[in-house]
Amino acid sequence: ILKRVLKAEKLEVVSHLAASISHEVRNPLTSIKGFLQLMSDKSLSQEKREEYVKISLQELDRATQIINDYLTFAKPVSEDTDRINVHMEIQNCINVLTPLANMANVQFRINFLYEDIHVIGEKSKLKQCMINTIKNGIEACENSGIIEIQTEIISDQVNIKISDNGKGMTKDQVERLGEPYFSTKTTGTGLGMMVTCSIIKAMKGKIQFHSEVGVGTEVLMSLPTEKK
Ligand code: ADP
Ligand code: MG
Repeated sequence: ILKRVLKAEKLEVVSHLAASISHEVRNPLTSIKGFLQLMSDKSLSQEKREEYVKISLQELDRATQIINDYLTFAKPVSEDTDRINVHMEIQNCINVLTPLANMANVQFRINFLYEDIHVIGEKSKLKQCMINTIKNGIEACENSGIIEIQTEIISDQVNIKISDNGKGMTKDQVERLGEPYFSTKTTGTGLGMMVTCSIIKAMKGKIQFHSEVGVGTEVLMSLPTEKK
């Protein structure tokens, strides 16, 4: 029975994500369609036309952002039994984010205290969590940013600590993390942390945030390690 309950919970998370993404992407698409319809009017002024193109491009960016926050690594078939090499996946995320980090003048520091660590779960989802978190770290850094990533094993849990020396958050902001649409960025989706928190929950893990304005933020993910 327990197994069935776990499965049901997992399905709930997955279908919730699927429902939100289709809803979220539909909105910008609908507005782009509206602007294209308006633009087919031959008498439309050049000025209006330019404005509508600009808004449509912004809306397209938004749709892409939403897909990035939800589905960068999604696979068509859900596999929740990958044996995940945590360090390999972290390195993989760093490779993906290096161009973004370079543009923001941010450096990575990695500190793996143990050799191979494995967890069981869906590789693509764990990657999505780490990408969303590391990306927030990069976006929070103003100048000469440093993102530190550390792993350690405490009894049967692996702790993945991702910290930045960026602008930090107030207590209220920390409390709102994971709430859908909470964003302080002009082009943020406010969906990245919601996705991250629900994935960690589905993997039977925990996520904690410590942050101080002007000092930085530390995100601690704990996941059960593979049973030997
Ligand atoms: P988005 O990045 O699209 O705004 P997220 O769900 O990823 O949405 O993050 C929500 C908000 O939490 C961000 O807008 C930001 O205000 C805050 N936040 C998240 N991570 C950090 C961080 N490392 N440093 C500072 N603020 C952060
Ligand atoms: Mg984000």
